[in-house]
Amino acid sequence: MAVASLPPPGLRQQVRLDDYTTWKVGGPAQWFAEPGSQDELIGLAAWAAGQALPYRCIGAGSNLLIADSGLEGLTLCNRRLQGSRLDPTSGLVEAEAGEPIPTLARKAARAGLHGLEWSVGIPGTVGGAVVMNAGAQGGCTAEWLDSVWVLDPAQPEAPFQLTAADLDFRYRHSRLQLEPLLVLSARFRLSPGHDPAAITARTSSNLHSRTSTQPYQQPSCGSVFRNPEPQKAGRLIEDLGLKGLRVGGAEVSSLHANFIVNTGRATAAEIDALIRQVQARVREDRGIELHPEVMRLGFGSTAGP
Ligand SMILES: Cc1cc2nc3c(=O)[nH]c(=O)nc-3n(C[C@H](O)[C@H](O)[C@H](O)COP(=O)(O)OP(=O)(O)OC[C@H]3O[C@@H](n4cnc5c(N)ncnc54)[C@H](O)[C@@H]3O)c2cc1C
Repeated sequence: MAVASLPPPGLRQQVRLDDYTTWKVGGPAQWFAEPGSQDELIGLAAWAAGQALPYRCIGAGSNLLIADSGLEGLTLCNRRLQGSRLDPTSGLVEAEAGEPIPTLARKAARAGLHGLEWSVGIPGTVGGAVVMNAGAQGGCTAEWLDSVWVLDPAQPEAPFQLTAADLDFRYRHSRLQLEPLLVLSARFRLSPGHDPAAITARTSSNLHSRTSTQPYQQPSCGSVFRNPEPQKAGRLIEDLGLKGLRVGGAEVSSLHANFIVNTGRATAAEIDALIRQVQARVREDRGIELHPEVMRLGFGSTAGP
């Protein structure tokens, strides 16, 4: 066997993914690794490409429904790829893909940088926030992103930069949901020169308003459905009396109707079935098609909604 085809160090086989998603569901990854550096990540992605294995990158798993049957090929988890550099004068911020977005928001607040206060309640990574164009409370990633470094595993020796304008950002959408590129790092252009105490207070208050109105104590993936603007998905579901609707261990939250919580032993199949039931009820009663925001992996298509 050629040396190049040997699995790189750090690779593990048959790793259960329920510990890597905030819904706490998901079967085993055929191959799995948590690289500790960009070079390690690049080596692993190149190995998968060389083996013609399917691959994908996950962050904090906070927007993922992974099938109970698991995932073929290589799953790379970025959550160890943390770190950031903030320039309080220019407002430029460089962050590794695995940096938790709430950590970055707090660092920015302490540096007097305005722009990320909305993100403190989103339990994802910088890479996941870019892919999803995560947003809350009137703000979103696209608004503050300058550019990203990405990798095409078919050409692992040549990471390249894409600007925000290249990413086709829309509501909870980016071009990266459709293309097999791995986000290595992101550059944000924040607004400098603000009072750190005021920005920190706004950041904390945003977090408080989220945790008091949403079920942060139970496993979930946040909002399941995109809002069918100008309507709110949560309001539509609540008005149909669907709070508390269950399939097995999956339940429409009684605190916020656009959340589905895992009450303890839910499977991905149960969550998926509940999503479909809610969609069917809203379609039949209101004639509105709800589109999931959550990305499904291992259900026959890597695309989410
Ligand atoms: C309690 C709770 C509250 C939430 N509130 C909000 C909210 O207010 N607003 C909001 O927008 N979202 C919210 N979410 C959803 C979620 O946190 C966001 O979508 C977040 O941006 C996902 O980041 P992640 O790192 O967890 O990505 P993951 O869930 O791990 O992945 C999401 C997608 O991005 C891809 N991906 C991740 N990292 C990379 C990378 N480095 N390179 C290439 N592809 C990558 C994955 O393959 C997948 O397709 C919430 C979730 C929870 C659990």
